[in-house]
Amino acid sequence: MSGLRSPRGTADTTGVTAPRRAGSLLPRPFAADLEREFQVARNASRSRWFVPTALLGLVFFDLYVLLDLVMAPQVVELSLWLRLGLVSPVTLVGLWLRGRRIAARPGSRVDVLLVAGAASLVVGVLAVVQRSAPDALGGAYFAGALIVVVFFSTLLRNDVRGAAGVLATMVGAFGWGQWYVGSDPVALQATSLLAVAVSGLFGLVLAGTLEESERARFLAERRERRLAAEREELIAALAQAAVRDELTGLLNRRGLLDRVSAHPGTAGRGGVLVVDVDHFKELNDRFGHLEGDRCLTLVADALASACRPTDVVARFGGEEFVVVLDVEHGQDAGEGDVQLAGERLRAAVRGCALPHPRGGVVTVSVGAARGDWEAALAAADEAVYAAKAAGRDTVVVAAAVPGSTVGART
Ligand code: GH3
Ligand code: MG
Ligand code: MG
Repeated sequence: MSGLRSPRGTADTTGVTAPRRAGSLLPRPFAADLEREFQVARNASRSRWFVPTALLGLVFFDLYVLLDLVMAPQVVELSLWLRLGLVSPVTLVGLWLRGRRIAARPGSRVDVLLVAGAASLVVGVLAVVQRSAPDALGGAYFAGALIVVVFFSTLLRNDVRGAAGVLATMVGAFGWGQWYVGSDPVALQATSLLAVAVSGLFGLVLAGTLEESERARFLAERRERRLAAEREELIAALAQAAVRDELTGLLNRRGLLDRVSAHPGTAGRGGVLVVDVDHFKELNDRFGHLEGDRCLTLVADALASACRPTDVVARFGGEEFVVVLDVEHGQDAGEGDVQLAGERLRAAVRGCALPHPRGGVVTVSVGAARGDWEAALAAADEAVYAAKAAGRDTVVVAAAVPGSTVGART
C-alpha cells in the first residue's frame, strides 16, 4: 500500500495541512501529531456505530440461510455450520478484540484489518456454500458478494488507503471463490470479477470523498475550539485588565469598587484608609517620570505586604491608594485599630527607604475613617488633607461617620 501514500503536505498558517492535493483522489494526511489526533477522533466517532452496524450485518448474513433453505435445501446444514459456527463467533471475537485494542491505543487502525479479514471470510464462506449448489445459488451469491464489497469498502468509513487494501483483499477472495466454485464459464467469471472490482472502485471514490469531508470537518471543529478557547482567554484577560492597575498590579478604582459593592453593608466598617505620597510631584520633577513610576510600584508593594489577605488594596489614581480593611467581614473597628493599621502602612513605606529629593525618604500621609463605605471614603479623603496640614508623614483618623458605632478623634 506504500505506493498509494501521498507525500506529506506542507504546513499552512494554522500548522496543519490542506485536506487534499489538487487533482488527487487521495486525501492527504495531516502533520504527524495532528494526524494522530484525527485518527483518535475518527475512531471515537466510528466506534459509536461500528459495533451495532457490524452486528446488524452479521444478523443479515446469518439470515441468508433462509435463501439457502428456499433455493438449495441440500446446503442448509453446511451453511448453518459455517455461519453460526464459524463467521458469527469469529466476528464476535474480532469485535471484542477491536474494543480492547482501541481502548489501549485510541488511534489504532485495527478496523482496516478487521474489515479486510471479515470481508474475506464472508466472501470465502459464500464460495464454499455455493460450491455445493453452484447452479442454484450463483446469481444470489454474486449479489451477496457485491453488497459485501460496497458495505465494507464504503459504509464502514475506513480511511481510503485502508479501503483500498480491503478492496484488493476482497477482489482476491472473490477471484479465489470463483476458481474454487469452478462451475461458471471463464467469460462469466471474468465479468463477475470485473463487476466486483468496479463496484469496489466506486466505493473507493466514495470512501475518499467521505474521508476528505471528515478531515475538513475535523479541521473546522478544531479551529472553532481553538478560537473559542482564545476568545475565553481574551475575555478573561480583558476582565483582568479592566480591574487591574497596569503599573503596580494592584486593583484599580474599578476593581476596588467591584470588590466593595460585592460586600454591601460590611465594606468600610472595618476601616477605610486613603494613602497619599508626600511631595510626589517634586520627586517626579527632579528624578524623572520613570523614577516616579518605580517609586509608585515600590510603595504599592509595601502597602500590599503590610495588609492582611482580608484587606483590599487599590491604586485609586495618581499617587493615591485606598485600603479597605476586612472588607468581607466588616467587624466594626475601633479607632485604635484603624490608627494602628494606618501606622503600619506609613511605617511600611518609610521602610522602603526610597530617597526623596527634599532629603530623607519617601513618606505617605494617611487619612482613615470607618463606617458606611461611601461616607467612610469621603471622611478618609478629608482626613488626608488634615494629615498633610499636620506636616505629612502622619496618620489622621476621622470623626465617626454614619454606620460606625465607635467614637473618633481627629
Ligand atoms: P502632596 O504632598 O500635597 O500630596 O504633594 P504631591 O506633589 O504629592 O501632590 P500633587 O497632587 O501635586 O502631585 C501628584 C503628582 O503625581 C502629579 C502627577 O504628575 C504625578 N503622577 C500621577 N500619576 C502618575 C504616574 O502614573 N506616574 C508618575 N510618575 N507620576 C504620576
Ligand atoms: Mg501626594
Ligand atoms: Mg494626591
